[in-house]
Amino acid sequence: MNTPRRCYLCGTEMIPIPSGHQGRKLPKHETRDHVPPDGLFCEPKPSNLITVPCCYECNNKHSDADEQFRVLTALQLGTNDAGRKIGVEKVFGSTMKKLRQPMFFKALAPTIRLAKVATPQGTEEVIYLSTDAAPVVSLVKNMVKGLLYHFHPEFDYRSQRFHAEEVTVAKPRPGVSDLGNELRAIIMKYCKEDGRGNHSEFRFWRQLELANQHGAWLLLFYNAVAFIVIHEPSTRPQRA
Ligand SMILES: [Zn+2]
Repeated sequence: MNTPRRCYLCGTEMIPIPSGHQGRKLPKHETRDHVPPDGLFCEPKPSNLITVPCCYECNNKHSDADEQFRVLTALQLGTNDAGRKIGVEKVFGSTMKKLRQPMFFKALAPTIRLAKVATPQGTEEVIYLSTDAAPVVSLVKNMVKGLLYHFHPEFDYRSQRFHAEEVTVAKPRPGVSDLGNELRAIIMKYCKEDGRGNHSEFRFWRQLELANQHGAWLLLFYNAVAFIVIHEPSTRPQRA
């Protein structure tokens, strides 16, 4: 008998779904999770999307967060054609049209305002929305865990501490030097690049130092929305 596989998020030993299974899945049933969510990609979906084993409970838990993440990335200023297409077809044409995620939009509504935003093309006035960063950051950390599971199966990321930060180009603080943007440029220059999607939906850079158990990642969506994730042993003292 094969050893049961573990969920890449919670580490639980999963139960394979018996063939011909009908009805509800059990929390520990083994499913596959797309990293990043497959809803971010244009049709026809590429055949090389990354999937990792995930228990049904975890997979189900973050499906709302996946859809909210798509809203936030596709509607970001300066996305490429793929981002605009997903914005029109999936965010306006599906999520909003079918009134999904009502609580999420209810929380966004009062934050709507006009703001001046610095972009590589100059200052633009845009509609600006704010959202609670915590669910987004948590989702992005989970994506890196999935990528680690896929690319470095020997690496034990469960004993690591993750830190994630958004470093998107357009920030409503024109003229302020942005450490995040500088870091992003450094990672793009020195780390290995990879990507998924036929229209630059998702590009990523990674550097894993096995000797000192450090990793640095840059995740870029629609050539516009970027996150830096670093991880290190959780036994190391927390930095100030
Ligand atoms: Zn799980």
